[in-house]
Amino acid sequence: MSPQPLPPGSTIGILGGGQLGRMMAMAALQLGYRVIGYAPPGDNVSTSASDDFFENGWGEKDALAAFASKCDVVTWEFENVPLSAVEAIPEAMLAPHPKALGVAQDRLNEKRFVEELGATCAPYARVESDDDFARAIERIGTPGILKTVRDGYDGKGQWRIANAHEAQGVRFPGKACIYEGMVDFETEFSVILVRNREGDVRYWDSTANTHSGGMLDSSVLPAGALVAAQVEEARAIAAKTADALGYVGVLTLEFFATRAGPVFNEMAPRVHNSGHWTIEGAATSQFENHIRAIANLPLGGTETRFARIDMRNIVGKDALTAHRILAEEGEPHLHLYGKAEVREGRKMGHVTRVGNHLP
Ligand code: AMP
Repeated sequence: MSPQPLPPGSTIGILGGGQLGRMMAMAALQLGYRVIGYAPPGDNVSTSASDDFFENGWGEKDALAAFASKCDVVTWEFENVPLSAVEAIPEAMLAPHPKALGVAQDRLNEKRFVEELGATCAPYARVESDDDFARAIERIGTPGILKTVRDGYDGKGQWRIANAHEAQGVRFPGKACIYEGMVDFETEFSVILVRNREGDVRYWDSTANTHSGGMLDSSVLPAGALVAAQVEEARAIAAKTADALGYVGVLTLEFFATRAGPVFNEMAPRVHNSGHWTIEGAATSQFENHIRAIANLPLGGTETRFARIDMRNIVGKDALTAHRILAEEGEPHLHLYGKAEVREGRKMGHVTRVGNHLP
């Protein structure tokens, strides 16, 4: 028997208050749901797209219980929600299953998890002391990257090591880390899929992603011949990951396209920055399909509607003059996230250009 659709007027709870939650909330509102957010006090930009918002810490069990008591289903927009907070919410209300957070919050866990499913990763070693670090450099060599196992995002908690001399100047940062060999890749790409409770899976096209300083800069279609040749293999890994986690909602896996095939980098158990283009560029956006999946509604098509797509992030002070973009040719679609605090390197918005003849 198919699971019952969540009736209009039901309430979707979202853990986390950032731009992903805001765009997810907008999709939920469009489908006739109410939205309640929960995040620690801060610049929570999804507040303005929510019917109600709990600004409470992740450790406040009573507040989490009060939040859950008002929701019919609870999801997240941020993968570093502490598991202890998620455990304060009845498991049956959560989608995706919190197992996905347990895997994705730890870089070692996620690599082991996908390796067992047949993925290739960059050579890596666990680092918990200066001695471990020296051994990792000896075994894996340089260049490489030292990353904290937990809580890293957008290039934070990462140290690039170009050569053995540089390695001597780097000390173990006191938190469990992973040292990875630097992958010599042609392009980065992500597989973004949606899976419903019955196990049906749909994929969006994989964009070529560029990063600067570890943070996503742009996502572009078409992604080029190498990505096209490797996307099936990457999708197979992503589908096995989603199946193994009994995943419901949108799941993202990031890969490096190398001459030797796709190399898994990391996963995000959520909607993803490299899928923002789907709002204007695909039959159904990642945000809407995430809501459809967790609400047991029929999934929407994921086909790309244009020959060319170009999504760029708007970072830091550039947001202050971003309205100028609207005067440019090619129907740019501007999204500003309403962040009060403009900080250098902070994602403030994005612009998507879609068309058959982009400049
Ligand atoms: P991550 O937070 O692991 O996604 O890293 C952010 C970005 O840093 C990636 O998207 C890549 O551009 C780069 N990067 C991370 N790890 C590696 C690696 N092992 N080899 C090459 N580039 C990497």
